[in-house]
Amino acid sequence: MSDQRRDTIAANLVAVRARVEAAAASSDGRPGSGVTLVVVTKTWPASDLRILSDLGVRDFGENRHQEAAEKAANLADLDVRWHFIGQVQSNKASRIAGYAAAVHSVDSVRVARRLDAGAQQGSRMVDCFIQVSLDPAGASSGRGGAAVETVPEIADVIAGCRLLRLAGVMGVAPLGEEASAAYDRLVAVSRQLELEHPLARGISAGMSGDFEAAVRAGATHVRVGSAVLGRRPSLG
Ligand SMILES: *Cc1c(COP(=O)(O)O)cnc(C)c1O
Repeated sequence: MSDQRRDTIAANLVAVRARVEAAAASSDGRPGSGVTLVVVTKTWPASDLRILSDLGVRDFGENRHQEAAEKAANLADLDVRWHFIGQVQSNKASRIAGYAAAVHSVDSVRVARRLDAGAQQGSRMVDCFIQVSLDPAGASSGRGGAAVETVPEIADVIAGCRLLRLAGVMGVAPLGEEASAAYDRLVAVSRQLELEHPLARGISAGMSGDFEAAVRAGATHVRVGSAVLGRRPSLG
C-alpha cells in the first residue's frame, strides 16, 4: 500500500469534504456533516478501499453485483456500509441484499420485492432509495430510473416490505442541462414522497462533476468517485 497513493486520496478527501461543507453552508446554513459522502469505489482495488477505511470513510458505493460481492467478502473485516448504486438486475437483487446496507437504484416493484426476499434470507434490513428518472418530459437520456408517476406505487411496496426501509429518492442528472434544474425536480419528487412517507427524507444526488449543485438543492447523500480516487482505470 503506497504512501503516495494514501497521501493523494487523503488530500482529495479533505478537498471534497470541504466543498460539501461550503455548499451546504451557502445554501441554507445546514451543516455539511448532515450530508453522507458515499465514496464510489467501483473499479478500484481493495487496497484503495483499505486506505479509505483507514481515513475514516464508512460508506462505499459500487455499481456491479459481482465486483461488489467480492469486495464485501474480501473486506469483511472493515467497519463499512456497502451502497449499491448501479442498475439492479432483478435476478441479482436477492443476492445484493446479502451485503448491501443501502440500494440507491430501486426502480421497480419487482426489484423491491426481490430485495425483500433476499433481505429475509439474511435477516437484515436494507435501506432503499427509489431511483427516479430526471429526464425532461418526452426525453430519454438512458440514465435510468423509474418514471415519476410510478414512484408512489414503488414507495408503497417498499414501505410494506418487512425488511426494507424506504430511505428516499435518488437521481442522476441528465447531460445537456444544468444539473441544478434536474436536482430541483428530484427535490420536488422527494417533497411529494414525504407527504405519504414522512421518514423517507433521503435524497441521493450528485457525482464528482456536480455534487455541490446537488448539496445546494438539498441532497442528503452524494456519490463521489473520481474526485476522491482519480480517473477510473477502466470503464465504470
Ligand atoms: C460512477 C457513479 C458515480 C460516481 O461518479 P464520479 O463521476 O466518478 O463521481 C455516482 N453515481 C453513480 C450512479 C455512478 O454509477
